[in-house]
Amino acid sequence: MSPVIVNLAYLVASALFIIGLKGLSHPRTAVRGNLLGALGMLIAIVVTLLDKNIVGYGVIFAGFIIGGGIGAVLAVRIQMTAMPQLVALYNGFGGAASVFVAGAALFEAHVLAGTPQAVDLNAEFVLSIFASGLIGAITFTGSVIAFAKLQGLTKETPVRYPADQVVKVVLALVLIVCGYLMTVYPESSLLFWFIVIVSSVLGILVTIPIGGADMPVVIALLNSLSGLAAAATGFVLYNSVLIIAGTLVGTSGIILSIIMCKAMNRSLVNVLFGAFGAAEGGPSSDEVYGGKVKATSPEEVAMLLEGAKKVVVVPGYGMAVAQAQHAVRELFDLLEKHGITMEFAVHPVAGRMPGHMNVLLAEADIPYDKLKDMDEINPTFKQVDVSIVIGANDVVNPDARTDPKSPIAGMPILDVDYSKTVIVIKRSLSPGFAGIPNPLFAADNTLMLFGDAKKMVDEMVKCIKEDWE
Ligand code: NAP
Repeated sequence: MSPVIVNLAYLVASALFIIGLKGLSHPRTAVRGNLLGALGMLIAIVVTLLDKNIVGYGVIFAGFIIGGGIGAVLAVRIQMTAMPQLVALYNGFGGAASVFVAGAALFEAHVLAGTPQAVDLNAEFVLSIFASGLIGAITFTGSVIAFAKLQGLTKETPVRYPADQVVKVVLALVLIVCGYLMTVYPESSLLFWFIVIVSSVLGILVTIPIGGADMPVVIALLNSLSGLAAAATGFVLYNSVLIIAGTLVGTSGIILSIIMCKAMNRSLVNVLFGAFGAAEGGPSSDEVYGGKVKATSPEEVAMLLEGAKKVVVVPGYGMAVAQAQHAVRELFDLLEKHGITMEFAVHPVAGRMPGHMNVLLAEADIPYDKLKDMDEINPTFKQVDVSIVIGANDVVNPDARTDPKSPIAGMPILDVDYSKTVIVIKRSLSPGFAGIPNPLFAADNTLMLFGDAKKMVDEMVKCIKEDWE
């Protein structure tokens, strides 16, 4: 294939990645953005395979069917709440692919040594291989650990041991020395695989001390690393589209990590070295809730809503578990029909993945202009008659604002406790992801509606239909 056509195709693919990413930044254009990105990837893969002359159309088609089939089954079957672990696996496979491609390129260079096709083992080539092996292996083992934690295959709490930071620094220094040695002895394959093994161990050691609510940040960070590994592999193969795609993944992953850190009031360094998730020493549930929690019923909530002018719904992880979004849409339609304004307060880390609540509410066709970001809605809570918290917990925990010793101290929260009345729908007084009690449930203006989110909202809708019409 002519290099001009290949490069032109790569240019089109890269443009599609960028336009696709831009589309992903708004729910209205997200589906189109996703499709454009996928089209870019299809172009990049097909052109690369045809250019290298290794396979024919038949193999490409077979790969398309098998890979596309696996992807389609996964996309349909995966639970929204299990998305973070799926992303962790994707990142891990990306990292492993970079390791093997870099290893194969080095092997090929050794085989071709002394022949007319000999590859120049210059420092740029060798360091690209080193970076692919190092970052790819860290990404692979780190992602496997993240997957195991989120899937509940291992303990999710941080694992610490004496002098753990020192061990990691020593391993990092060993890797730097190995990188230098690779430029001195580029003909050694053993050195490369030694680097891969040490990096794999480092990937495990970096991820095991991280737990609790920090896991999603780590996944975004691993996502970024998988992109950087791919970009390094792009330098190994002199493939411009791989360099561009890898860099886009690398930068968007790091931007997402920073946004999530901000939403949880944590720094990236703190996430990686701070061992969050061990909620120790705080007040017990009995101290927080003892005799202060008031339960309510769907009938009572329906009566309360009848006198309201402004209602805000705060969706959380429990709404996703219960798949209550369609019932919530029905409630929205009913209240709006009766002249009651209803808005949705979306916390950036509500649920279990970035944008989780936006996706659910969009699925139920809630108008986008009713979805309000934390900064926009927080100043308005004092004017809200009824806030309905549906399966959210940590993101409305006032301890984040008031208790400097709380594990979520300083995390920006939705100030629902400032509304006139707060209804919290959840099945029990169990804690949320951070594992700590929530004084909101015992507040004077809070009523607890205990039960499954979908069932409770359905019953509220039924009561409203019966009583108001
Ligand atoms: P949360 O604090 O994890 O609380 C979810 C609540 O939902 C639980 O207390 C649970 O209480 C309730 N629930 C579960 N199933 C339910 C059902 N069927 N019906 C009704 N309620 C149900 O959730 P959140 O307020 O959304 O906060 C998210 C947390 O996850 C934060 O700590 C965040 O840092 C972390 N996180 C976020 C992401 C992300 O990227 N968005 C990813 C991973 C982790 P019951 O058991 O009593 O019902």
